Amino acid sequence: MREEEARAALVAYGQSLFSRGYSCGTSGNLSVRVDEGGYLMSPTNVSLGRLKADSLSRLDEDARHIDGPPPTKESWLHLAMYSSRPADTAVVHLHSTYAVALSCRTDLDSADMLPPITPYVVMKVGRVPRIPYSRPGDTAVAALVSEVARSHRALLLANHGPVVAGVDLDAAVSAAEELEETAHLFFILERQTHSQLGPKEIEELHRAFSL
Ligand code: ZN
Repeated sequence: MREEEARAALVAYGQSLFSRGYSCGTSGNLSVRVDEGGYLMSPTNVSLGRLKADSLSRLDEDARHIDGPPPTKESWLHLAMYSSRPADTAVVHLHSTYAVALSCRTDLDSADMLPPITPYVVMKVGRVPRIPYSRPGDTAVAALVSEVARSHRALLLANHGPVVAGVDLDAAVSAAEELEETAHLFFILERQTHSQLGPKEIEELHRAFSL
């Protein structure tokens, strides 16, 4: 995506996500790897609902801050995803309620936190592992995020929230929304007898949609 187009898309998606309750306060951050090289990111301490096209953080290909306000303090998270996913051009990180709740669960499989309740979560999000907790600002898990991102487009940071990469911003936002909705469904259904997709149905989806 060209830089100018990416600036407008980041503002529009920031407002959309904020207005629908996906990010409260100044939590959550978005980024795009632009065609011109380098990255556009949401700035630190700015609500996703109040992003401005001419006031986004611009980083060069080596992740040096070159223009606009300082980037999100979680820029390392975005860069860790990009470093392992060369085909992806957007990263979305949210503190959305049900995904955060899911990230706190210690009784689930940490390699596969999100149950395959619908075909859409299998198609858009895939398997979601859980990364161990680290305090805000601590980049100790960056290497682990990079490693996991090689084979996963989405992951959950324990007691923190989801990180999702996509081939473009539409895909990354859409997958982050699907992840949140599926986490919500999981908590609604958890105490009730219900069906989930099994290995046969998942394999069929992989075959039909070349996942
Ligand atoms: Zn965060």
